[in-house]
Amino acid sequence: MRAAVFYGANQPLKVEEVPKPQIGAGEILVKVAACGLCHTDLHYLDHGVPTFKKPPLILGHEVSGTVAEVAAGVSQFQVGDRVLLPAVMACGVCDNCRAGRGNICRHMVMLGNDVDGGYAEYIKAEASNVFHLPAEIPLIEGAIIADAITTPFHAVKNRGKVKPGDTVIVYGCGGVGLNLVQVANAAGASVIAVDMMEVKLNKAKELGAVATVNAGEVPDVAKAIRKLTGGGAEIAFECIGNPKTMESAFSSVRNGGRLVIVGYTEHTMTLNASRVMYREMEVIGSLGCPLTEYPKVIELVRTGKLQVETMVSRRFSLDQINEGLDFVRSGQGFRSVVVP
Ligand SMILES: [Zn+2]
Ligand SMILES: [Zn+2]
Repeated sequence: MRAAVFYGANQPLKVEEVPKPQIGAGEILVKVAACGLCHTDLHYLDHGVPTFKKPPLILGHEVSGTVAEVAAGVSQFQVGDRVLLPAVMACGVCDNCRAGRGNICRHMVMLGNDVDGGYAEYIKAEASNVFHLPAEIPLIEGAIIADAITTPFHAVKNRGKVKPGDTVIVYGCGGVGLNLVQVANAAGASVIAVDMMEVKLNKAKELGAVATVNAGEVPDVAKAIRKLTGGGAEIAFECIGNPKTMESAFSSVRNGGRLVIVGYTEHTMTLNASRVMYREMEVIGSLGCPLTEYPKVIELVRTGKLQVETMVSRRFSLDQINEGLDFVRSGQGFRSVVVP
């Protein structure tokens, strides 16, 4: 089969012929319909963040497709079924999994990081981790549910604990941030979106944001937000992964509020401890989404409460994958997918 293979940082992915994965007990082989291009891939490609499996490795962790082969003993899938693969597979038996927190499973396996991912014609997966994709959800655009929508869902519902009527700030309107806007809006929050690109802020408004702040046009974003909200929001989500915006997001939250860190950075964020203490602030992280939540997200998409089709800006073939990654690098588009 053909796949886009990662050989190391600062070099393009190489599209080449590789062996088709062989499935073992409990596994299925999936013919990839689409795989979302994610900023996470740029951490490996551009920023030297190591993958858990050493290259050569097939990247890609946002996969939809159809079942091509089923191993003996797998009864819940048949050849031809439409499926969604979660970005991160959980063991199901460790203490965190048993506590319903499989997203921080002690033995988590991330596609395109611990094992070969979805920038390929085929991918194999443990059947117990895979979800059926209902007919109402388009197969190609449905791929983005696997990370771009489930990650915001977990951040909003379980970590941010957003309630109807809460004022919520979303810093960064990329693939995850824009979807966070629509998930928070569906949860009944009043959402204010922050970004530097007007096209993304306009999209945030389409997805339900009640106001937007262009960070390139105001000298102090947190101050602008405190003014807009009469003293600060209840909850801020940082979806960029930049210590400076994390600090700004913290300052845009009112006393007793919550900062949820969704963006990834390896750098240090500075917060004044007395402000955390004296203002009774919560600063918490959010990673991916437990598998137990996937059926709920799929149902929200199936019933049209969350959109996927309008969130996919461009499709790239496997041969165009490096062009697709350049498109992600440029910060253009909302979410793009590779269609092998
Ligand atoms: Zn991702
Ligand atoms: Zn586990």
